[in-house]
Amino acid sequence: MHILISNDDGCQSPGLKILADYLGRIADVTVVAPLQDHSAASNSLTLERPLRVVQLEKNLYSVNGTPTDCVHLAITGLFRERPPDMVVSGINLGENLGDDVIYSGTVAAALEGRFLGLPAIAVSITSGRPCYLETAAEIARRMVRHVEQVVLSREVVLNVNVPDLPFSQIKGIKSTRLGNRHLAEPVIKAKDPKGQDIYWVGAPGSEQDAGEGTDFYAIADGCVSVTPLHTDLTKYQSLDNLCTWLAQIKLSNNPG
Ligand code: MN
Repeated sequence: MHILISNDDGCQSPGLKILADYLGRIADVTVVAPLQDHSAASNSLTLERPLRVVQLEKNLYSVNGTPTDCVHLAITGLFRERPPDMVVSGINLGENLGDDVIYSGTVAAALEGRFLGLPAIAVSITSGRPCYLETAAEIARRMVRHVEQVVLSREVVLNVNVPDLPFSQIKGIKSTRLGNRHLAEPVIKAKDPKGQDIYWVGAPGSEQDAGEGTDFYAIADGCVSVTPLHTDLTKYQSLDNLCTWLAQIKLSNNPG
C-alpha cells in the first residue's frame, strides 16, 4: 500500500514526522505538505499563482500552498507511476472537534483525498503542545492496518481525535457524532508599532453540545473519537418547510 500523508501545520511539524514514521513501518509513505502553517485553511485551493514543489528528502515534498493543494497535486499528477492508495492527514497539533471541522485544513486534506477517490483519515491530538504524540501515531497505525476491513460509503472521511495521554491510559475508541461550540470569542484588537489598529481572530467557543455520543464527550472521557464525515451539508429536514415558504414567493411581474 502507498499512503499519501499531508497536514495543515506545515512540513516541519513533529505531528507530520511521527505519522510518517509510524505509517512507514506498515506501508510505503509519501509526504506532501504545505511549506508553511495553513491551519484553518479549510478546503481552499490556490488558483491565482502557480505552485512549486520542492523535494526535501526522499519521500518528503513541500508545496507553497494549502493542504488541499498538496493532496490535489499529489493525486492528480505528481506520482503518476505510483499513485497513492489512501490519504492520512495529520497529526494535527490541536483538536478538531465539532464546528472545528468546517475550518480545519487537516480535515480538508482528507476530504480532498476522498473527493479524488481515495479512502482518507484525518488525525488530530487534543493539545497544541502535546506530550504523547506517539499515542496518536500508534492509533493511526492501527486504524490504517485495518482499513481494508472497514465498510463505509465512498463519500465518508474519518475524523479521528486522540487525547494527549499515554497509550496505556486511552480508555477506548468511540464512534461519535460532531458536537458543537458556543460562539467564538471576540476578535482581539491591538496596535501595530505605527499605532494602527490590528486584529487577531479570537479563540473558538467552548463546548455547547458536548453530550453523550459527541466527539467532545468521548475525548473528555479519555477515549479516541472517530466521526464519519461527509460533505453533503444539506439539512434534509428543512426541505419541506423551505418548499412551503418558497411557494409564497411569486415569480410573476406583480410584486405582491
Ligand atoms: Mn493545524
